Amino acid sequence: MGMTSPAQPAAPAPLHPASPGATPEATPVSEDVPSSHARQSEFGFTVGSRLEGARARTGVIRTPHGEIATPAFIAVGTKATVKAVTPEAVAGFGAQAVLANAYHLYLQPGSDVLDAAGGLGRFMNWSGPTFTDSGGFQVMSLGSGFKKVIDMKTTTPSGSDDAVAPGKERLANVDDDGVWFKSHLNGDTHRFTPEVSMNVQHQIGADIMFAFDELTTLHNSRAYQEESLERTRLWAERCIKEHFRLTDSRADREYQALFGVIQGAQYEDLRRKACRDLAEMPFDGFGIGGALEKENLGTIVGWCADELPEDKPRHLLGISEPDDIFTAIENGADTFDCVSPTRVARNSAFYTPHGRFNLSGQRYRTDFTPLQAGCDCYTCTHYTRAYIHHLHKAKELLSHTLISIHNERFVVRMVDEARAAIETGTFFALKERVMGEYYAGNPDPQGA
Ligand SMILES: [Zn+2]
Repeated sequence: MGMTSPAQPAAPAPLHPASPGATPEATPVSEDVPSSHARQSEFGFTVGSRLEGARARTGVIRTPHGEIATPAFIAVGTKATVKAVTPEAVAGFGAQAVLANAYHLYLQPGSDVLDAAGGLGRFMNWSGPTFTDSGGFQVMSLGSGFKKVIDMKTTTPSGSDDAVAPGKERLANVDDDGVWFKSHLNGDTHRFTPEVSMNVQHQIGADIMFAFDELTTLHNSRAYQEESLERTRLWAERCIKEHFRLTDSRADREYQALFGVIQGAQYEDLRRKACRDLAEMPFDGFGIGGALEKENLGTIVGWCADELPEDKPRHLLGISEPDDIFTAIENGADTFDCVSPTRVARNSAFYTPHGRFNLSGQRYRTDFTPLQAGCDCYTCTHYTRAYIHHLHKAKELLSHTLISIHNERFVVRMVDEARAAIETGTFFALKERVMGEYYAGNPDPQGA
């Protein structure tokens, strides 16, 4: 895999004493403060090059905390930290932005703490752009007793609208106004509504937020998907209203952009309808969420890209593996997030151009080469497989850090290369070469 220079590391934010922010009600809107609609211009998106014969495009997202060159991989920092990695290292592996989760931060430490700290970026010492996921997915997945990763296969009979993992209690209940759920931490009961989600996300203070939506699974009946989609549409309207109210009442804060979330599971007509409905609302961008089978990911993203306005960015929520990245980009996704690089690192798995390998194998005991020959990451330029294998065997936490840094850099570089290849019209050649090597199924050529 070719090399690209790492993105310019964002300087870590200096530590400031927490300046308690005004509460939403406490700040009067003065006459000379621009309206929330006018303030939308503090966020922007410009399309750059378009790839012939596909929906792929490059662009630049502008936020109060800097720009994001798209397509971009957004590092996942669920609880205001990219697991096991310092913000300096996150900048070092080239991530342009970090995505945290409103559900987790609302429960712990509480969104009021982030508000008092001056927002997510300042709280976690990350000076670049930030996103928050609305919490809808976690409220309905962690909170409902679904399996940890919701089963998105349609192989089981559809039509069961009350899917709960075997042996688990149902912990989330959706009604037209919102969701009751139990905390996965201590079982306390909480309620999320579109308004609560907007208040929580404004307090967390990320540059890009997502509207509160209902997550369905591929098991739900068609009738339920229709009912749920209508609920998500009404919730989107309520999110916008509350978002503008909060933007006006917190006029001293930097503008936070709001993305609408497209649901509709595997149904083309529902996805297209959701796009048309939400495109009429003054969202700053869109998230493509919900039930997606890996095989249909490109098709579904493509339907959405066709329907959504060309001048707004599109974020694909939660993808899994490197081939999904090429599929997502090819079909018009501008940004996407993925927990895999750090998740698999904690199980000692590392990415290479020839596939994913596991460092627990005995053959790495005396392998004094880097995780990936030629990789420019901090880990590969300073450490050997033998050393990290030893850390893993000794259950030393540094192994999580070192493998995470490499895996994140691997994915960031792949997306950087894809972006450059859109500019030069060589995207399909790159995709064929990278995917061909990655899935060739050959043994690790370094570790053989
Ligand atoms: Zn590396």
